[in-house]
Amino acid sequence: MNILMAASECVPFVKVGGLADVVGTLPKYLKSLGHDVRLILPKYAAIDGKKYNIKTLPYRLQVKVGQDTESFRIKHCLTKDNISVYFIENVRFFNRPGVYGNNGQDYGDNRERYIFFCRAILESVKALMFRPDIVHCHDWQTGLVPAYLKTNLKNDGFFWNTSSVFTIHNIAYQGHFRADTIEVAGFLWEDFTPDKLEFYNSVNFMKCGISLADAVSTVSPTYAKEIKEFNGMGMEIVLNSRTDEVYGILNGIDYNYWNPKSNKSIESSYSKNDLFGKKLCKTALQNLCGFDVGEGYYLFGCISRFDNQKGFDIIIDALYQLKGTNMQFVILGSGNQYIERQLKEAALKMPSTIAVFSGYNEDLAHKIYAGSDVYIMPSNFEPCGLSQMIALAYGTIPIVNRTGGLSDTIVYYNHFTKEGNGFVFNITYGENFVQTILKSEKIFKDKKNWNILMQNAFNSKFTWDKSVLEYEKMYQNVIHNKQYKAVFIRS
Ligand code: ADP
Repeated sequence: MNILMAASECVPFVKVGGLADVVGTLPKYLKSLGHDVRLILPKYAAIDGKKYNIKTLPYRLQVKVGQDTESFRIKHCLTKDNISVYFIENVRFFNRPGVYGNNGQDYGDNRERYIFFCRAILESVKALMFRPDIVHCHDWQTGLVPAYLKTNLKNDGFFWNTSSVFTIHNIAYQGHFRADTIEVAGFLWEDFTPDKLEFYNSVNFMKCGISLADAVSTVSPTYAKEIKEFNGMGMEIVLNSRTDEVYGILNGIDYNYWNPKSNKSIESSYSKNDLFGKKLCKTALQNLCGFDVGEGYYLFGCISRFDNQKGFDIIIDALYQLKGTNMQFVILGSGNQYIERQLKEAALKMPSTIAVFSGYNEDLAHKIYAGSDVYIMPSNFEPCGLSQMIALAYGTIPIVNRTGGLSDTIVYYNHFTKEGNGFVFNITYGENFVQTILKSEKIFKDKKNWNILMQNAFNSKFTWDKSVLEYEKMYQNVIHNKQYKAVFIRS
């Protein structure tokens, strides 16, 4: 199959959240199954052209955004797995410091930026003569690609055999804009209908993706169920209208990258069979944070976007409730400034037990995953969550709210049966984060049980090997259905 992955972020080039990890990893697994997979991304200023040997291709293309004609170039590089990556270069929309915004504030022209990107994707594949069987679109920023294929381009012979798949990484971000988006994006008003582009008299990019892609997926089975039933943030009806084509496929992580045995950022390497290095990592992290050093302290890590989704109200409350205990907290993140201020205020009041680092810092992230005893993730909702899987790979025990992908990956440790890989509480049922922390501390103090729990964590593997087959199956179903419809229409 020819597969084009279209996304607004991708490791190693540019990352805001877990979307980038998925888009950066899935293609190499699809390639190993024999598919021709290529990626297409915006060329943000933050992407280092020299580092990745990105070259400009000899095309000068244009698309319309509203009344403006926007010129762009296509850039190209190969990843270390030999996958072609195309970058859309346009100074007006992408040559700025942030990806979606700056200082926690979204850019005011994100509508135009991603209309441009979607149109540029479709122009680029034509120029490149790469006819995708599947265009796999990720999140609202690429939601108009399926829409163009089903409307303006439905009779375009180049895309005759092209189907689209739309993956929801987080339904909370939808790209919801005024109805005049129809004109800015160059659609026809006759397509402004509920089954196509209209959504409560507006244009919602995520809804376009969900309604008009040939299949829809999201990143865990439980989240797929939740967004259809109660957590779809307004998309429940749209999702239920095509419930048979909504797949829940759990993300995996790259165990070569998230590997305490080979990681260069951490104080000392370690593995499940040799945990001495993890103790050194804990000491190094305590020193880095200015905490008292000792194995007996219960050290919590958290690496996250500062966003209400991630349960920071609960975390901040816990920081104050657990004051004066032997617990230490290290938090790294960026995003919402109000959350950041509250965390920093707590750290100022309790500097010997709370350390807060702001910004995006991959190197420090590895140190926190490795040095912490536990990893906290009391998210209000979580489509999949990668951080809890990464924590497990480092033998760091997750404490999570029972929601979405956290339900699919973390099982409460039962000290009788010795099964389970973490601690789970349920906000919906009124269960309490602090109580769960205190229960987990009892196991932490019982070294025999804690060691078993750590072994269970190391043994919890969420590889891409299985998930990639589910994606392949979804693509095959979509292509099969298209061929079936074509035969049906002809006969
Ligand atoms: P989301 O996609 O909702 O942000 P995930 O848990 O799925 O959450 O993925 C988050 C990813 O981003 C993880 O790999 C995590 O380590 C990383 N991450 C988040 N914030 C930071 C940060 N400030 N510095 C480094 N890595 C971060």
